[in-house]
Amino acid sequence: MSLVTFSELRSAAYCPRQCYYDRVADGREPPPRVERIRELAFRYADSLTADHESLASAPIAVDPATYQARLNRARTTNDRWDDLCSPADREVLVAGRDCRGIVDKVLDSPLEPAVVATGAPPDRGVWETHSVTAVAAAKALAWANGEPVETATVEYPAHGVVRRIDLTTRRKAAYRRTLRTVREIDGPPPRIDDRSKCETCTYAPRCGVRTRTLRSRLERRRG
Ligand code: SF4
Repeated sequence: MSLVTFSELRSAAYCPRQCYYDRVADGREPPPRVERIRELAFRYADSLTADHESLASAPIAVDPATYQARLNRARTTNDRWDDLCSPADREVLVAGRDCRGIVDKVLDSPLEPAVVATGAPPDRGVWETHSVTAVAAAKALAWANGEPVETATVEYPAHGVVRRIDLTTRRKAAYRRTLRTVREIDGPPPRIDDRSKCETCTYAPRCGVRTRTLRSRLERRRG
């Protein structure tokens, strides 16, 4: 059985139909802004001491003072802060028993993956899509290195938010469910009921879902 990719798991955890569209799309490149946001996760030390003017030109989602306050909080509360700033490895392709993909940061002793997310964090914890990706990365790392991995970190660098999670039974069950979903996709799955997710989905017009953005565009055209 071929290995499922981390990105398939991430999109299927959001919406299985989106995962299907990703699969049949011609490999789209992420916009340059995404890469700039990801880079923020590799220069926390610089960002902590940067002057506000230069920080304001970075793709951060909050004002520079709030950004530095959040990073300071992460520095003082996250046991693995130093490892996150200087990971043992970065952007490594790892293949496990069931899935494969790029692990954004690899921390060692103990082994732990960090997932860099380019969007906004939820009020607490991490989004389900990132939880599923973090479990996938941890499982792949554990398989490739022959040692258990029970924690992971999810970073939201544009917001200066870093959250460490335990790989609980609930998270692992969600990962296994999503893995099954991806393996079973052999045509467009049904649309999801949670239409709030469709608002930010780039496939909405193709999917035939009328989002608020699309509706207001049509109304403007008619008006
Ligand atoms: S528009 Fe909604 S249902 Fe369609 S692929 Fe996107 S998230 Fe899924």
